[in-house]
Amino acid sequence: MPLEEVTYQMAKKLDKIKEKLLERRNELLTRIQELTSVPTQSVSGDKVDQAIASLEREDTSMHLQVEISELHDIQDALKRIERGEYGKCESCGKRIGAARLEALPYAMLCLQCKQMEENESEAFQTRARWEIPEETTIEEGEEEEAD
Ligand SMILES: [Zn+2]
Repeated sequence: MPLEEVTYQMAKKLDKIKEKLLERRNELLTRIQELTSVPTQSVSGDKVDQAIASLEREDTSMHLQVEISELHDIQDALKRIERGEYGKCESCGKRIGAARLEALPYAMLCLQCKQMEENESEAFQTRARWEIPEETTIEEGEEEEAD
């Protein structure tokens, strides 16, 4: 489905999300830089992908792997924004709720699909820092700064 219906509002919102993602990406890159020999601090755009690839080849600690996988997710989200596919569930294709995206800007699955996936592979889940508690009710369209 083409995204021609993207409104000015939506574009503005995407800008904010993108900003948030880039900010978080910088944080992660700085932290990773401190802990590895892979130069990440001043990389941008596609170079981040290269940095991630090098990092994934490195023998990194468990802790760092969490950071790297978050970085990966952020890169994916940024690419989906570029392609105009941001906010669509990878599994069922439905819109991901605004509140969920607010809480987890790089969410790839809607809450329903995410919970289904979690039930299937509970043992392998690493809960992302920005993940929202399962009991939280997601209301479509509600916009509140969650801070
Ligand atoms: Zn879904």
